[in-house]
Amino acid sequence: MAYVLVLNSGSSSIKFQIVDPTASAADTPFVSGLVEQIGEPSGHIKIKIEGRAVESSMPIRDHRGGLQLAIAMLDANGAGPTQVEIIAVGHRIVHGGQTFSEPVLIDDTVVEQIRDLIPLAPLHNPANIDGIEVARALLPNIPHIGVFDTGFFNHLPANAATYAIDAEVAKEQKIRRYGFHGTSHEFIASQVPDLIGKPLEETNQIVLHLGNGASVSAVRGGQPIDTTMGLTPLEGLVMGTRSGDIDPGVIFHLYRQAGMSIDEIDNLLNRGSGVKGIAGVNDFRELHTMIEEGSAEAKLAYDVYIHRLRRYIGAYMIALGRVDAITFTAGVGENDSQARADALANLEGFGVKLDEAKNAERGDARIISTDDSATKVLVVPTNEELAIAQKSAQIAQGA
Ligand code: ADP
Repeated sequence: MAYVLVLNSGSSSIKFQIVDPTASAADTPFVSGLVEQIGEPSGHIKIKIEGRAVESSMPIRDHRGGLQLAIAMLDANGAGPTQVEIIAVGHRIVHGGQTFSEPVLIDDTVVEQIRDLIPLAPLHNPANIDGIEVARALLPNIPHIGVFDTGFFNHLPANAATYAIDAEVAKEQKIRRYGFHGTSHEFIASQVPDLIGKPLEETNQIVLHLGNGASVSAVRGGQPIDTTMGLTPLEGLVMGTRSGDIDPGVIFHLYRQAGMSIDEIDNLLNRGSGVKGIAGVNDFRELHTMIEEGSAEAKLAYDVYIHRLRRYIGAYMIALGRVDAITFTAGVGENDSQARADALANLEGFGVKLDEAKNAERGDARIISTDDSATKVLVVPTNEELAIAQKSAQIAQGA
């Protein structure tokens, strides 16, 4: 079996999977692992190999140390890179700016190009580069491929990509709407046409990626024409801990009137807002329990979340003109039948009719609208690691 090692390197953690690129989205990966608390006294590594968990705690000095320890643990369990065939290492990279639309074979020049994009993703890209450098040093004979979260949206039409601010400032600072979760939106958008029996080129669709982070895209003939995230993943929907759209005046107000620093405001809007900001929890399972127990805050958080989501569904229906499919994916989208029903309630006049029984069922990729619904509604599980593995295997095999 030929596998791809998929690496998602964050500032204090490394998530990884060893994936069969020919697997289906619902399959459990051969290996999944997490190196946590890098740089702290209390480092931790958790690995699952074919469902069997192995764990270890020790201080982990840096990314190099973390990946070395993880590889040693894999080796000790018969799943190391010399024991199983790894044909590529696929790196999830957050920001590809306008430089990268497609996955790319990583060489020194590519690393420098990713470094040049650090001002656009000051927390994420440096951690991604750390991961690339360490992995290339430890696994020098395997092709390394970069897959960009922004890539799918790189050719958004100018009307959707442009912020209406001073054009010179925007150009100089590279301020535009980049979009994120691109790997997931593309993965879902490419599967829907088969499921509804239409060619991709003729399919108009709305993809709702509703995880802890959340975004919507409008895709015409396989090409995105709009998406809700912008310069950063903060724009758009209400999310687990992020505010999504707010009046930029709120930032000036917090700075001038509340005396908050820019870092404090950044933290408030990214980590202390969204559903958590209103209700105190960001997990939708807890949110529903709180609502059942009568919490007004939880109900308000849910209502604000659904209201924003419906606002974008409406906007993208108009942008597309005709909508063949609306697809729910990621943690909330795949599991929360109540949120799906509320997001699409009372849209019969627009040709969207959910089938209550089908919506309540659990399962793999499926249609949950009525047979006579002009717009098909679907649930399709996303699997970003598998998508990265597929793209990386393609490039490695062609390389
Ligand atoms: P991430 O954006 O971190 O990749 P996921 O796509 O895994 O997140 O989504 C995680 C979120 O999915 C959780 O915070 C929770 O709100 C939601 N979720 C997961 N399972 C369920 C469920 N059974 N019912 C409702 N919401 C769920």
